[in-house]
Amino acid sequence: MLKGGCLCGAVRYQADGKPMGQAICHCRNCQKQGGSAFSVLISVDSSQLTVTGEPKLFLDHGDSGAPVHRHFCGTCGSPLFSILPANPALTHIKAGTLDDPSIMMPRVHVWCDSAWSSTLIADNAIRIPRNPPG
Ligand SMILES: [Zn+2]
Ligand SMILES: [Zn+2]
Repeated sequence: MLKGGCLCGAVRYQADGKPMGQAICHCRNCQKQGGSAFSVLISVDSSQLTVTGEPKLFLDHGDSGAPVHRHFCGTCGSPLFSILPANPALTHIKAGTLDDPSIMMPRVHVWCDSAWSSTLIADNAIRIPRNPPG
């Protein structure tokens, strides 16, 4: 089970079941939203996610024009999770908001085309230039 929440604690979440995957996203929109070089994501089954508090929604669009729903705390501004309406069964949690991020061992990097040249990516990582295939 995963538990986490925003910086101020107004929004909390819990995800039961096994996470579906981990990844690091270097897209420009994740950089802007997080104010950082990349975002670290853990994907869970949306039906297993319970959220308390009321995150705000920013309706973003990916490079292809497809909508991306970015949920964040309206009080402290922490980015919390994203959902692609094209695949709403998955929720991509911003792993920095986990209570215990020690489970994170992401090896897949997406949007490497916009990764900072100063960002070190491990030699054994899987590098995907833009969106993951399929
Ligand atoms: Zn907050
Ligand atoms: Zn991204």
